[in-house]
Amino acid sequence: MDEELIRRAPKALLHDHLDGGLRPQTVIELADEYGYANLPQYDGTADGLGRWFAEAADSGSLPRYLETFEHTVGVMQHADALFRVAAECAEDLAADGVVYAESRYAPEQHLEAGLSLDEVVEAVDAGFREGERRAAAAGNRIQVGTLLTAMRHAARSSEIAELAVRHRDRGVSGFDIAGAEAGYPPTRHLDAFEYLRRENFHFTIHAGEAFGLPSIWEALQWCGADRLGHGNTIMDDILVDADGKATLGRLAAYVRDKRIPLEMCPTSNLQTGAARSYESHPIGLLRELHFRVTVNTDNRLMSSTSMTREFTELHKAHGYTLEDMQWFTINALKSAFLAFDQRLELINEHVKPAYERLRAEASPPPA
Ligand SMILES: [Zn+2]
Repeated sequence: MDEELIRRAPKALLHDHLDGGLRPQTVIELADEYGYANLPQYDGTADGLGRWFAEAADSGSLPRYLETFEHTVGVMQHADALFRVAAECAEDLAADGVVYAESRYAPEQHLEAGLSLDEVVEAVDAGFREGERRAAAAGNRIQVGTLLTAMRHAARSSEIAELAVRHRDRGVSGFDIAGAEAGYPPTRHLDAFEYLRRENFHFTIHAGEAFGLPSIWEALQWCGADRLGHGNTIMDDILVDADGKATLGRLAAYVRDKRIPLEMCPTSNLQTGAARSYESHPIGLLRELHFRVTVNTDNRLMSSTSMTREFTELHKAHGYTLEDMQWFTINALKSAFLAFDQRLELINEHVKPAYERLRAEASPPPA
C-alpha cells in the first residue's frame, strides 16, 4: 500500500476536533479579519505557523499544548469564522478520502464575541453543509455530523446536552465531554448523561487516554457512554503472558463483548505521551483481539496529521493491508451516530465495492 492508495480508500472518522483542524493560512486570515492580536511568534508564512502548532503540541509541555487551542478558538468567535472553518474542514476531510465524519467542538468556547450557543451551532452546521456541497462539486462524497462537547472542568454539561438534543435533526448527532481527565471524572456530569439517555440520544466520552481504568468504568457503567474517546488504558485490564497469550479482566471483557467502540488516535497519543510509538500503540494488540477499534485523527493541525497519515503510519508499524483498513472503516461506520439504514447503505453500496476495486487495482490478476 502506498500513501496515494490509502488516500483514495474510503475512510470514516469519529473523533476529530473542529478547533484542532484549521488550515494555518485560515488562522492567519481570521486573526487579521477579526483583530485577534495574540498569535504566537512565527516566520510570517502559513507553513511556519503550521510548524509552530506541531512543535508546541510536540513539546511535551502541557501549557504549550493547551496554548495551541487558545489561538484556534481565539479566531473562531464569529459566525462567519465558524462557517468558514467548518466548510474547510469538510473539504479537507473529503480530499483525504473520508466519506463519513463526526466533528466535535465545545460551543461554550465560542461565545466571547457575543454569539449565543444556538447561533454557534447554526453557523457550524451551515458551514458543514457548504463544505459537503463544495466537496461534491470537486467529485468527493462526504457526510459530516457534529458532536457537541462539554468541558469536563466546567459546569455547563446539562445546558450543552439540551442544546445538542435541540439541534438533533439539524446536523448534531451526538454529545461528548472533553478536557482534563484526572480530577474531573465523568460522573460529575451524570445529570447530562441521564438526560441524554431519556432522550434516546447518543454520546461518547473522552476516557482512558491518560487516566486509568476507573475513568473507563465510570464512563460505561455509571454514565452509559455509547463509545469511548481513546480508551487506551483498557490495556491495564489485559494481561499478556510470556507466550503472548492475552487474558482479559472483567472490564476489558465487557468492552470487547459489548462491542464498545474505541476511538483511537495514535499520532495524538504519541504527542501527549499516552503512547510511546506506533509499534507499541495499544491499537496493535486490540486489533488482534478483535476489539471494536477505530482509527482517528483527534487534532489534525496540532498533530500535522490526516486519516491518510494515520493509516500510513499504522501500515508501516503493523503491516496493515487494505483488508485491515476496510475492517477499521466498517468498525467506524457500524459505530457511527447515524441511522442504521444509512450506515448499511454506506458500508454495502459504497465502502465495500470501493475496497474491492482498490484490491483488484493493487494486485491485478496475472495476464
Ligand atoms: Zn479528543
